[in-house]
Amino acid sequence: MKIQVLGCSSAELPNANLPGFLVDGKILLDAGTIGTVLTESQQWKISHVLITHAHLDHVKDLPFFADNISMNRKRHQVTIMSIPEVNGALKKNLLNDILWPDFTKIPTPDDPILKLQNIQPGVSFTLDGYRIIGYEVRHTVPAVGYLIEDKNGKRLLYAGDAGPDNTIWEFIPGKLDGIIVEVSLPNRFQERALETGHLTPKLLQKELKRMKDLPDMIFITHCKPGYREKIQEELQSLHMGSITMLTDGARFEL
Ligand SMILES: [Zn+2]
Ligand SMILES: [Zn+2]
Repeated sequence: MKIQVLGCSSAELPNANLPGFLVDGKILLDAGTIGTVLTESQQWKISHVLITHAHLDHVKDLPFFADNISMNRKRHQVTIMSIPEVNGALKKNLLNDILWPDFTKIPTPDDPILKLQNIQPGVSFTLDGYRIIGYEVRHTVPAVGYLIEDKNGKRLLYAGDAGPDNTIWEFIPGKLDGIIVEVSLPNRFQERALETGHLTPKLLQKELKRMKDLPDMIFITHCKPGYREKIQEELQSLHMGSITMLTDGARFEL
């Protein structure tokens, strides 16, 4: 499984892109960054977008992505998958013919550019040879994390914005090959992290203690750009195994 980090920041600045992780060039996890990184032909290879939650930093580029696809001469349809609360929020607040044209009806309601498909938390589905499960996570809005298993049995968990006191860590059976997990703020902002459903290094440590086996690789996403170095320093001092701070543009393979 090859992962390309389109963005892994929780704020948008020059050299800091919002979350988007491309799996094997065709399945996108969150849509904070698409068009500023991928060429048109790379965008047209994306068949499915799995959205963790409706916060704008995770869906911002969906409207422009749909517009780019509409300019493609070949017919292409992209399936947006998430829990009903998230798909409902996208339809009501983003693709609503006010903020942006409703690409779930363009060019026709029967054969639109974007197809919204609901998933059920905890129920696995297969998609192009991958086995995927969405797990509910605790944040400030309805949210899920995704466990993706490829044909070779490699398993990645992308937890999205999973704040403190999540049970997702206990549900996953067996040892994972990798997880992408958020740490938004340094330890001194613990109170703010608790209020906003995010993690600090210490809160992450508490979460990961719930796992029976630590994954082989732990990738950190969603840092506030100004606190990246402090977060890295604090994570190192916790000695939690193989932790990598993701960077925009990074690629890794499980
Ligand atoms: Zn969020
Ligand atoms: Zn976020």
